[in-house]
Amino acid sequence: MKIGILTSGGDAPGMNAAIRSCVRSLIEFGHTPIGIRRGYQGLIDKDFIEMNLRSVANIIHRGGTVLKTSRYPDFKKADVRKCAYENLQAHHIERLIVIGGNGSYSGAKALYEEFGVISCGIPGTIDNDILGTEETIGFDTALNTAIDAIDKIRDTANSHERLFLVEVMGRDADDLPLAVALACGAEYPLIYKSDADLQEVHKRIQESLSKGKKSSIIVVAESSKVNALELLQHSLRHESLDYRACVLGHIQRGGAPSAKDRILASQMGYEASKNVSEIETFSCVVSDRRNISVLSYEDCKEVEAMNFQSFRELNDILSK
Ligand code: ADP
Repeated sequence: MKIGILTSGGDAPGMNAAIRSCVRSLIEFGHTPIGIRRGYQGLIDKDFIEMNLRSVANIIHRGGTVLKTSRYPDFKKADVRKCAYENLQAHHIERLIVIGGNGSYSGAKALYEEFGVISCGIPGTIDNDILGTEETIGFDTALNTAIDAIDKIRDTANSHERLFLVEVMGRDADDLPLAVALACGAEYPLIYKSDADLQEVHKRIQESLSKGKKSSIIVVAESSKVNALELLQHSLRHESLDYRACVLGHIQRGGAPSAKDRILASQMGYEASKNVSEIETFSCVVSDRRNISVLSYEDCKEVEAMNFQSFRELNDILSK
């Protein structure tokens, strides 16, 4: 089967590891991987490229996506999707693997519902906001990038005895800012839903000051609906509180993927490739590995042995 692979929407570190895994696994399962460049736009531009084992050499450690990505709002139009379907038919591309976030999944779902194009979604987004999976590819790297930046900010906050506000990405999902706050020991995360959240931050700041704590870090979650950082600054100025503000911005998207993201991407790419020819609707790769539980010592040894055996087997396939 010819299987198309595309990356769409916001790029996320680990997308290249996922592409590598898909290409090499699809070949292992007897399929022909076709790279589609620039996400859904590539379906319209017929930007297709047959990939082989060597096309994905030396990319596992690189951020971004070698297939490029795009925001292509026209794909929300049914006639544009019809054109995509016809191009797939003309090039005998039977199924797709779509690596991206919620928007990309919506595109894949629409293609299935309207034209029966079967595809498998791999969750690639730093936002960790995809239903059904505990973790998305890129989340761990973005988390570590933000932690690294905030650790540095804390040094200066501490030296100057200052309050710092740090805006963290995550669109409207709270996972990244909440995880960043927990991992950095930030005094309080602001996830703005209403003015009550602003008042709570003020209360916390005042409590900290009254306890003699002079430097604090408030992680502010980015939102597509309001500029929470601006609102908070406005209210702090109103109370004549001194602070410094910092927006981490796009540095959170880039950089070499963490070990965790490389492994997750490798496993997810393999799983998608193994199943893509068998599935019958738009389906998604999920992972549920964050369960924390108590096991007997004997069971622990078994789990450990199983995990590392699966790593060895997967590496035999992907390192070709
Ligand atoms: P992400 O996949 O990271 O959430 P976007 O929301 O920008 O990123 O979506 C990526 C692309 O998916 C869009 O540019 C568009 O081409 C396509 N897409 C998004 N929403 C839809 C939709 N409702 N129907 C069809 N295609 C969509």
